[in-house]
Amino acid sequence: MKPLHVVVIGGGIGGLCLAQGLKQAGVSVAVYERDRTPDSRTQGYRINVNSTGAVALHDCLPPALWRVLVATAGDAGRGIGFLDEKMRELVLLGNDGPAADPDDPLNTEHAVSRITLRKILLAGLADLVHFDKEFLRYKENSDGTVTAYFADGSRATGDVLIGADGTRSRVREQLVPRATTTQIPAIGVAGKLMLTPETLAWLPEILLARKNVFWPKRDFLFTAVFRRREDPAQVAERLGDQLLALGLDPRELVEDSRDNDYILWALIGSSDTFPAGFTELTGPPILDVVGDRIRDWHPSLRRLVKDADQLRAVGFTAAAPVEAWPSRRVTVLGDAIHHMPPVGGLGGNTALWDANLLRRTLISVAAGEKELVAGIGAYEAAMREHGFATVRDAVRNTEQAATRNALSRLRTRLFFKACGAIPPLRRAALGYDQPVVDAEERLTPVG
Ligand SMILES: Cc1cc2nc3c(=O)[nH]c(=O)nc-3n(C[C@H](O)[C@H](O)[C@H](O)COP(=O)(O)OP(=O)(O)OC[C@H]3O[C@@H](n4cnc5c(N)ncnc54)[C@H](O)[C@@H]3O)c2cc1C
Repeated sequence: MKPLHVVVIGGGIGGLCLAQGLKQAGVSVAVYERDRTPDSRTQGYRINVNSTGAVALHDCLPPALWRVLVATAGDAGRGIGFLDEKMRELVLLGNDGPAADPDDPLNTEHAVSRITLRKILLAGLADLVHFDKEFLRYKENSDGTVTAYFADGSRATGDVLIGADGTRSRVREQLVPRATTTQIPAIGVAGKLMLTPETLAWLPEILLARKNVFWPKRDFLFTAVFRRREDPAQVAERLGDQLLALGLDPRELVEDSRDNDYILWALIGSSDTFPAGFTELTGPPILDVVGDRIRDWHPSLRRLVKDADQLRAVGFTAAAPVEAWPSRRVTVLGDAIHHMPPVGGLGGNTALWDANLLRRTLISVAAGEKELVAGIGAYEAAMREHGFATVRDAVRNTEQAATRNALSRLRTRLFFKACGAIPPLRRAALGYDQPVVDAEERLTPVG
């Protein structure tokens, strides 16, 4: 039997995770990425890998790279607090659970430097990832293969083509032309406050201990603290031999995790309450608008916002649910099919979930245990169900955060307050004691 060859369009989080997993299993794979070089991207904010994404990365990466990811990641503290804008507690979750083991992907979150994550995902794939390859379109050939055409005139042929090319996916446009995007009536503003001796002198412990969600009468604020678990130089030293054995340079791999510890904040509000053109603003003018909105909040929250840098304002969109399409030798994963607002940090984790499921499917196909198109059909059914359920959650959370409905906001505050006062209600409603991912999920057979 001719060995299976997989062509992946897009070397983002999902595409590279898939490539890593296929390479570990000995399945032939090549990735084509539009960015000109591996270091074309800037750091931005750390990406929070939750237990769903962590399981996928753990399954797809060589063990030494997984250890680097955990060691260089920021720790977001345990649990989550729900408070009002005066910093009065409604409920704090996470104080009564067992301490999470950072090496256990099922129970831990990892705030990973985007550059380090990319380096980890690219590690050992130098011959398989082709940069400066802008995908234009694909063609299904009569011999059952698929050819991708690139802007530089080159082409690549494989037995299956995976569109991992993000929100404006050209693979999706060709495969599922009826897929559409909806605008969410909310705007988000985010900023970073670095943890320095000066900021640590005034920051209240509650902002440093865990993630927090603030439910004022209008708008919504999320904060998360990111503290490195281990100094990158120490990580390079400790895991050096394992990384050298993989042919990697330990110091080069971890050097970008050095970005300082910080608190990320994100404010969300209804888009019709922001001035026209707000999302085009950069820097201090963003703060003028936000400062006015939060003028009667707790002074520490106002200072957290005022002293922040790397400000960014964005509007939100989400993929509209799409009916099943006839399965073929072309498929899609991640943002390419089910992109969602970043509220809750679910998009990347869902792309990783897809990548892991597709990895298992393609390994079974390569081993002759499964027919390709049937395997893709089963993958797509599971991917649509999981992906669009997550889009619904992200959209609902975004709309709830931005709602101007005073009754709905009051109900939410009272609900969290009741959960704080009545532990059995808290356990039943918020399921705090339960691990986020069912331990069986990793073992779920495909198709
Ligand atoms: C501000 C913000 C914060 C976020 N925080 C989190 C978080 O904490 N946790 C989380 O899980 N998610 C988060 N997300 C969402 C997350 O970044 C995305 O969901 C995730 O990157 C999707 O992965 P992907 O592999 O599907 O697509 P991408 O990571 O977008 O990768 C797509 C790749 O395809 C390439 N590409 C595009 N077009 C072409 C083409 N024509 N030819 C070749 N290559 C192409 C792109 O260059 C890119 O490298 C956040 C998003 C934003 C905006």
